[in-house]
Amino acid sequence: MNDTVLTSWVDGQPLSNAGGETFAVTNPATGKTAYRVEQADEAVMEAAVQAARKGFVAWSALSAMERSRILRRAADLLRERNDELARLEVIDTGKPWQEASAVDVQTGADAIEFFAGEAPGLEGATQDLGGDFYYTRREPLGICAGIGAWNYPLQIACWKAAPALACGNSMIYKPSEETPRGAVELARIFQEAGVPDGVFNVIQGDYRAGQMLTGHPDIAKVSFTGESGTGRTVMGDAAKSLKQVTMELGGKSPMLVFDDTNLDDAVSAAMLSNFYTQGEICTNTTRVFVQRSVYDAFMERLLQRTRDNIVAGDPMDPETNLGALISERHMEKVLGYIESAQTEGATLAIGGHRITDGACAHGYFVAPTVFTDCTDDMTFVREEIFGPVMAVLVFDDEDEAIRRANDTDYGLAASVFTRDIQRAHRVIHQLQAGICWLNSYGESPAEMPVGGYKLSGLGRENGRATLAHYTQIKSVYVGMGPVEAPF
Ligand code: NAD
Repeated sequence: MNDTVLTSWVDGQPLSNAGGETFAVTNPATGKTAYRVEQADEAVMEAAVQAARKGFVAWSALSAMERSRILRRAADLLRERNDELARLEVIDTGKPWQEASAVDVQTGADAIEFFAGEAPGLEGATQDLGGDFYYTRREPLGICAGIGAWNYPLQIACWKAAPALACGNSMIYKPSEETPRGAVELARIFQEAGVPDGVFNVIQGDYRAGQMLTGHPDIAKVSFTGESGTGRTVMGDAAKSLKQVTMELGGKSPMLVFDDTNLDDAVSAAMLSNFYTQGEICTNTTRVFVQRSVYDAFMERLLQRTRDNIVAGDPMDPETNLGALISERHMEKVLGYIESAQTEGATLAIGGHRITDGACAHGYFVAPTVFTDCTDDMTFVREEIFGPVMAVLVFDDEDEAIRRANDTDYGLAASVFTRDIQRAHRVIHQLQAGICWLNSYGESPAEMPVGGYKLSGLGRENGRATLAHYTQIKSVYVGMGPVEAPF
């Protein structure tokens, strides 16, 4: 265990709390405490707001080109430090090195580079009104708060900071208390790249730190990533001071596998969307609907590849492709869903247990699990599990598949596998989901806006659409003649 205690990061430097309250961060792969972190108190919060206020004045006074140049340097630094940052993510999250080193830092850097490129293109409009005219300015909101989840700690921090900073806002970011380190590393990188102190601050802690952000009257916006239930609370709290919100929430997404598809691709996608990052991905298509005529062939390939190709173990081992779940509590929750699936009558096709062999002995590993004979009303088919648990469901025709796919309160993602080009688009257009993949799964380039329908969220991250969520329009009416008045 490292003796240094991680603190909040305010105005370009570490800032300690007054009372000394700390909490432990556990390495999920070993079950041991990795390091301790200070819970931010009111004084830290106030200092962060003051710093962000000052940071906003300096940062928003720069031209968009100047901000862009600085942010591009930050993206370069992230890429240069890929391996050291990925290692920290592996320790905090338990995910495999082969994923963290290829995806987590890179996709964060991509978002910063993308928004750095977009910011100078932000422009207003002007319209002639027959002499008088008006024009609009796209102005930043002020201080934005970011509240993150634990599955992609650095990536989530980057996806929130990138559009916020590119548009001229300052930010106070609260990472998940389970994975607090990536955001501080990002703050250091921003500083090194030339972002003025106070523009990106990090406050550490659990829900209490989050509540200080949502309740603070000087914060203009909250961008939240987490569970739908928490999102509702955060939005309710933010409403008291009428903050703008972006909500990136949970899901229970469907995959539709039609009988004309390339089955190997469909199996690859089903495995990616249930077992990658141990199933801890918001967009996972955990309800896999397979057309009856290809069901047997699909299951045969799925089970064979799950049996033969999963390597659970020390996440830092480059061969490992299945890591540990984030915490013991979360593992128990996932195992509870596995138990409920069996109680409610689903058939366990593979997995269904904790892994405790070899390097997995003390970590929170759960075997990739597939259930068949599932029905749409089973608890584990309806609720988000956030673990490596796949429900395979059988369907006969297109209308039935669409109806059952949409029969959920969530609406984050969906994936469709078919070679019939007209059916592909016809089906996708009827699915109630914000992020859809056609003959693909999981790709989320910085250029593409992502976000949920229904209980899965509000607003968008990434893509040009997000610029609208971090700016506000000021309209300026210009009178060119005398002011007419009846008085
Ligand atoms: P969570 O809702 O438990 O916590 C998310 C964050 O909110 C944490 O930082 C937590 O400390 C904070 N928080 C908790 N209560 C709060 C309160 N009352 N006020 C303010 N902040 C509060 O979620 P989690 O367990 O960290 O993450 C898993 C969830 O995140 C899953 O539901 C997953 O689907 C979702 N997720 C969504 C996306 C997306 O883009 N849609 C991405 C990743 C994760």
